[in-house]
Amino acid sequence: MPQIKLSLDEVDALARAAFRKVGCDEANASALTRTVWRAERDGAKSHGLFRVPALVAALASGKANKTATPKITKRAGVVLQVDGDQGYAPTSHDVGLPELIEVAKTHGMAGLAIRDVFHFAALWPEVETICDAGLVGYAMTASPPYMAMPGGKRRVFGTNPIAWGWPRNEGAPVIYDMATAHSARGEVMMAARDGHDVPLGAGIDADGNPTTDPAKILEGAQLPFGGYKGAALALMVDLMAGPMIGEKTSLGIEAADDGVGPALGGQTIFAFNPEMFGGADAMVGGEALFADLKSDPGVRLPGDRRAAVRPTTPTDGVEIPASLHEAIQGLT
Ligand code: NDP
Repeated sequence: MPQIKLSLDEVDALARAAFRKVGCDEANASALTRTVWRAERDGAKSHGLFRVPALVAALASGKANKTATPKITKRAGVVLQVDGDQGYAPTSHDVGLPELIEVAKTHGMAGLAIRDVFHFAALWPEVETICDAGLVGYAMTASPPYMAMPGGKRRVFGTNPIAWGWPRNEGAPVIYDMATAHSARGEVMMAARDGHDVPLGAGIDADGNPTTDPAKILEGAQLPFGGYKGAALALMVDLMAGPMIGEKTSLGIEAADDGVGPALGGQTIFAFNPEMFGGADAMVGGEALFADLKSDPGVRLPGDRRAAVRPTTPTDGVEIPASLHEAIQGLT
């Protein structure tokens, strides 16, 4: 597939123009652009410019709010809630994360329930924002059901991702961010688009048979990673980003959605101040563990890949398919 090279500044301009053209106000266009830009910068292609046409389509149809104005309230001591106003999650993060960080720094921990948002992206950007403030972060979100329970063939859970992150004194934080599915849905979609197989275990066809054909998995169901263990984590996400915060489960999200584009749901985010739990030794202990782990040649920490591919100057480039570039330019 022919590729073209864009500087990070061009990535920003391309995405921003598409969001502004469809009618986003400055706050929404900036929050969305930053999330897409961060994904491209870190080589997280399935949540980068690849998503822009679908994001714009949901804005153009009026499904996602172009001028969402999220509102934050304190429900109890360290429990915060953001009403996302049916916008995309990054706009709610801009409103909720500074307060979450402030409360966790003061009281040792804080929780943020984000309701009525479309979460289309990776979770590491919001976790990274928390870690950059010196805190431990934990985030999860439920999505429409694409995944069957082991032994079943009915789609019951979204690919329900979980991410956690640990701050570092220097350099990028350690962040683990995964779908509870064997693979993120974007990966299966890109494999179908590019005509290559996915590993066995990624999903089943509509009759419940294991397959490596991504197109058949999109008609059938994805599977959790690690069998019942991944399924149990997907269940935990369904509960903690669903009923626990007054939001819908994966099946509830599907029932309330028109099936076109992203679906409204919730996100739960926690921040912990390690120094309030363990004193200054908490950070020292973390650094000692990382050094120990990395003393074994061949070992890397979660987040190292993104940090390693991250361009060092804004004029450094990333590659995207020429057809995607053309499609996004057609939106501007
Ligand atoms: P991956 O399996 O690619 O990676 C999962 C984690 O494992 C990453 O943190 C990665 O770190 C780490 N990792 C990979 N290899 C190693 C290794 N050898 N040693 C140590 N750590 C390693 O991610 P998924 O495919 O499961 O998920 C992709 C993305 O999709 C996630 O960002 C997730 O949030 C997102 N998603 C979003 C959804 C939504 O509804 N918004 C739904 C489902 C998924 P590193 O980054 O350094 O490679």
